[in-house]
Amino acid sequence: MNPNNIKILLETLYEFYGKQNPTRNYDAMEELISCILSQNSNDKITFPTFDQLRIQYPTWEKLVQAGYQNILEQVKAVGLAPTKTKNILQSLKMIYEKTGDYSLHFLSEYEPLKARQWLEQLPGVGPKTATIVLTFGLGMDLIPVDTHIHRISKRLGIIPEKMDANTAHDYLLQIIPKPLRNSYHQQLIIHGRNLCTARNPKCNQCPISKSCLFEKNNSD
Ligand code: SF4
Repeated sequence: MNPNNIKILLETLYEFYGKQNPTRNYDAMEELISCILSQNSNDKITFPTFDQLRIQYPTWEKLVQAGYQNILEQVKAVGLAPTKTKNILQSLKMIYEKTGDYSLHFLSEYEPLKARQWLEQLPGVGPKTATIVLTFGLGMDLIPVDTHIHRISKRLGIIPEKMDANTAHDYLLQIIPKPLRNSYHQQLIIHGRNLCTARNPKCNQCPISKSCLFEKNNSD
Protein backbone atom coordinates (compact mmCIF):
# COMPACT_ATOMS: atom_id res chain seq x y z
CA MET A 1 0.00 0.00 0.00
CA ASN A 2 1.49 3.36 -0.96
CA PRO A 3 1.66 6.33 1.47
CA ASN A 4 -1.20 8.13 -0.23
CA ASN A 5 -3.53 5.15 0.20
CA ILE A 6 -2.46 4.83 3.82
CA LYS A 7 -3.27 8.53 4.31
CA ILE A 8 -6.76 8.03 2.85
CA LEU A 9 -7.32 5.01 5.03
CA LEU A 10 -6.33 6.94 8.19
CA GLU A 11 -8.59 9.84 7.26
CA THR A 12 -11.46 7.39 6.79
CA LEU A 13 -10.87 5.91 10.24
CA TYR A 14 -10.62 9.41 11.77
CA GLU A 15 -13.95 10.39 10.25
CA PHE A 16 -15.52 7.15 11.41
CA TYR A 17 -14.34 7.18 15.04
CA GLY A 18 -13.94 10.95 15.57
CA LYS A 19 -11.34 12.71 17.70
CA GLN A 20 -10.08 10.73 20.70
CA ASN A 21 -8.63 12.16 23.90
CA PRO A 22 -5.25 10.86 25.06
CA THR A 23 -5.74 8.27 27.80
CA ARG A 24 -2.71 9.27 29.90
CA ASN A 25 -0.14 11.98 30.18
CA TYR A 26 3.12 10.48 31.42
CA ASP A 27 6.63 11.83 31.00
CA ALA A 28 9.40 9.63 29.57
CA MET A 29 10.39 8.10 32.92
CA GLU A 30 6.78 7.36 33.79
CA GLU A 31 6.23 5.79 30.36
CA LEU A 32 9.29 3.60 30.89
CA ILE A 33 8.40 2.30 34.35
CA SER A 34 4.69 1.85 33.57
CA CYS A 35 5.60 -0.05 30.37
CA ILE A 36 7.90 -2.42 32.24
CA LEU A 37 5.03 -3.07 34.64
CA SER A 38 2.55 -3.56 31.81
CA GLN A 39 4.37 -6.41 30.04
CA ASN A 40 2.08 -9.46 29.83
CA SER A 41 -0.47 -7.65 31.93
CA ASN A 42 -3.50 -5.55 31.06
CA ASP A 43 -4.08 -1.81 31.27
CA LYS A 44 -6.88 -2.09 33.81
CA ILE A 45 -4.47 -3.55 36.34
CA THR A 46 -1.22 -1.92 35.26
CA PHE A 47 -2.10 1.77 35.26
CA PRO A 48 -3.91 1.89 38.64
CA THR A 49 -0.98 -0.09 40.12
CA PHE A 50 1.53 2.31 38.59
CA ASP A 51 -0.42 5.41 39.70
CA GLN A 52 -0.61 4.02 43.24
CA LEU A 53 3.15 3.39 43.17
CA ARG A 54 3.72 7.03 42.20
CA ILE A 55 1.49 8.22 45.05
CA GLN A 56 3.36 6.03 47.53
CA TYR A 57 6.81 7.01 46.15
CA PRO A 58 6.41 10.36 44.38
CA THR A 59 10.06 10.63 43.31
CA TRP A 60 12.32 8.04 41.66
CA GLU A 61 14.81 8.52 44.53
CA LYS A 62 12.11 7.48 47.00
CA LEU A 63 11.23 4.48 44.88
CA VAL A 64 14.86 3.34 44.78
CA GLN A 65 15.20 3.88 48.54
CA ALA A 66 12.04 1.85 49.15
CA GLY A 67 13.93 -1.20 47.89
CA TYR A 68 13.00 -4.49 46.29
CA GLN A 69 10.63 -5.97 48.91
CA ASN A 70 8.45 -2.87 49.29
CA ILE A 71 8.12 -2.39 45.54
CA LEU A 72 7.41 -6.06 45.01
CA GLU A 73 4.60 -5.90 47.55
CA GLN A 74 3.12 -2.85 45.84
CA VAL A 75 3.18 -4.24 42.26
CA LYS A 76 2.33 -7.92 42.79
CA ALA A 77 -1.09 -7.54 41.10
CA VAL A 78 0.54 -6.99 37.67
CA GLY A 79 2.08 -10.48 37.47
CA LEU A 80 5.75 -11.44 37.03
CA ALA A 81 6.33 -8.99 39.87
CA PRO A 82 9.78 -10.26 40.98
CA THR A 83 11.26 -9.89 37.47
CA LYS A 84 9.57 -6.55 36.83
CA THR A 85 10.70 -5.17 40.20
CA LYS A 86 14.29 -6.20 39.48
CA ASN A 87 14.11 -4.69 35.98
CA ILE A 88 12.71 -1.41 37.31
CA LEU A 89 15.40 -1.05 39.96
CA GLN A 90 18.19 -2.01 37.55
CA SER A 91 16.88 0.39 34.89
CA LEU A 92 16.75 3.24 37.40
CA LYS A 93 20.33 2.43 38.46
CA MET A 94 21.56 2.46 34.84
CA ILE A 95 19.79 5.75 34.10
CA TYR A 96 21.27 7.32 37.23
CA GLU A 97 24.75 6.10 36.32
CA LYS A 98 24.39 7.64 32.86
CA THR A 99 22.87 10.99 33.83
CA GLY A 100 23.46 11.54 37.56
CA ASP A 101 19.69 11.95 37.68
CA TYR A 102 16.53 9.96 37.06
CA SER A 103 15.72 11.54 33.73
CA LEU A 104 15.61 10.52 30.08
CA HIS A 105 15.69 14.03 28.65
CA PHE A 106 19.21 13.49 27.34
CA LEU A 107 17.68 11.17 24.71
CA SER A 108 15.97 14.17 23.07
CA GLU A 109 19.40 15.03 21.66
CA TYR A 110 19.75 11.61 20.03
CA GLU A 111 18.50 10.42 16.65
CA PRO A 112 15.33 8.38 17.31
CA LEU A 113 16.87 5.04 16.37
CA LYS A 114 19.97 5.72 18.44
CA ALA A 115 17.75 6.70 21.37
CA ARG A 116 15.81 3.47 20.92
CA GLN A 117 19.06 1.51 20.91
CA TRP A 118 20.12 3.14 24.19
CA LEU A 119 16.84 2.29 25.87
CA GLU A 120 16.98 -1.30 24.65
CA GLN A 121 20.07 -1.89 26.82
CA LEU A 122 17.86 -1.55 29.90
CA PRO A 123 16.59 -4.83 31.36
CA GLY A 124 13.06 -5.71 30.25
CA VAL A 125 13.08 -3.08 27.50
CA GLY A 126 12.55 -4.18 23.90
CA PRO A 127 11.62 -2.23 20.75
CA LYS A 128 7.99 -1.74 21.81
CA THR A 129 8.69 -0.29 25.26
CA ALA A 130 11.54 1.86 23.94
CA THR A 131 9.35 3.18 21.13
CA ILE A 132 6.48 4.00 23.51
CA VAL A 133 8.86 5.98 25.74
CA LEU A 134 10.24 7.96 22.80
CA THR A 135 6.90 8.52 21.09
CA PHE A 136 4.74 9.50 24.07
CA GLY A 137 7.38 10.64 26.56
CA LEU A 138 9.63 12.60 24.20
CA GLY A 139 7.39 13.31 21.20
CA MET A 140 9.47 11.46 18.58
CA ASP A 141 7.86 10.31 15.33
CA LEU A 142 7.99 6.55 15.80
CA ILE A 143 5.31 3.85 15.75
CA PRO A 144 4.95 1.55 18.75
CA VAL A 145 3.81 -1.84 17.45
CA ASP A 146 1.43 -3.29 20.00
CA THR A 147 -0.88 -6.22 19.39
CA HIS A 148 -3.50 -4.07 17.57
CA ILE A 149 -1.01 -2.36 15.26
CA HIS A 150 0.68 -5.66 14.46
CA ARG A 151 -2.57 -7.53 13.71
CA ILE A 152 -4.23 -4.79 11.63
CA SER A 153 -1.06 -3.94 9.69
CA LYS A 154 -0.95 -7.60 8.60
CA ARG A 155 -4.65 -7.77 7.78
CA LEU A 156 -4.39 -4.68 5.62
CA GLY A 157 -1.30 -6.04 3.88
CA ILE A 158 0.89 -3.14 5.08
CA ILE A 159 3.38 -5.56 6.62
CA PRO A 160 4.00 -9.16 5.49
CA GLU A 161 1.83 -11.83 7.13
CA LYS A 162 4.74 -13.57 8.84
CA MET A 163 6.58 -10.48 10.10
CA ASP A 164 7.02 -10.38 13.89
CA ALA A 165 6.21 -7.26 15.90
CA ASN A 166 9.85 -6.41 16.70
CA THR A 167 10.81 -6.40 13.01
CA ALA A 168 7.68 -4.40 12.19
CA HIS A 169 8.99 -1.46 14.25
CA ASP A 170 11.72 -0.83 11.68
CA TYR A 171 9.71 -1.88 8.64
CA LEU A 172 6.84 0.53 9.34
CA LEU A 173 9.25 3.45 9.69
CA GLN A 174 10.36 2.83 6.10
CA ILE A 175 6.86 2.94 4.65
CA ILE A 176 4.84 5.30 6.88
CA PRO A 177 5.90 8.93 6.35
CA LYS A 178 6.64 10.93 9.53
CA PRO A 179 3.51 13.12 9.42
CA LEU A 180 1.27 10.02 9.36
CA ARG A 181 2.95 8.01 12.11
CA ASN A 182 1.07 9.42 15.05
CA SER A 183 -2.25 9.04 13.33
CA TYR A 184 -1.33 5.52 12.15
CA HIS A 185 -0.78 4.46 15.74
CA GLN A 186 -3.88 6.19 17.15
CA GLN A 187 -6.35 5.13 14.48
CA LEU A 188 -5.26 1.49 14.34
CA ILE A 189 -5.48 1.15 18.12
CA ILE A 190 -9.04 2.53 18.15
CA HIS A 191 -9.96 0.30 15.24
CA GLY A 192 -8.46 -2.75 16.96
CA ARG A 193 -10.39 -2.08 20.16
CA ASN A 194 -13.69 -1.59 18.35
CA LEU A 195 -14.17 -3.46 15.07
CA CYS A 196 -10.91 -5.10 14.02
CA THR A 197 -10.68 -7.31 17.08
CA ALA A 198 -8.40 -10.35 17.23
CA ARG A 199 -11.34 -12.76 17.12
CA ASN A 200 -14.40 -12.22 14.97
CA PRO A 201 -13.59 -8.81 13.50
CA LYS A 202 -16.77 -6.97 12.49
CA CYS A 203 -15.81 -6.60 8.85
CA ASN A 204 -19.38 -5.92 7.75
CA GLN A 205 -19.30 -2.64 9.73
CA CYS A 206 -15.74 -1.68 8.79
CA PRO A 207 -15.21 1.62 6.93
CA ILE A 208 -11.95 0.43 5.34
CA SER A 209 -12.98 -3.09 4.31
CA LYS A 210 -12.40 -2.36 0.61
CA SER A 211 -8.66 -1.88 1.31
CA CYS A 212 -8.34 -4.98 3.46
CA LEU A 213 -6.63 -8.20 2.35
CA PHE A 214 -8.13 -10.15 5.24
CA GLU A 215 -11.66 -9.22 4.18
CA LYS A 216 -10.89 -10.02 0.53
CA ASN A 217 -9.41 -13.43 1.41
CA ASN A 218 -12.32 -14.32 3.67
CA SER A 219 -15.11 -13.19 1.36
CA ASP A 220 -13.87 -15.12 -1.71
S1 SF4 B 1 -12.26 -5.48 7.00
FE1 SF4 B 1 -12.22 -6.66 8.91
S2 SF4 B 1 -10.14 -7.41 9.11
FE2 SF4 B 1 -10.12 -5.76 7.58
S3 SF4 B 1 -9.61 -3.91 8.74
FE3 SF4 B 1 -11.83 -4.04 8.65
S4 SF4 B 1 -12.44 -5.13 10.52
FE4 SF4 B 1 -10.24 -5.47 10.22
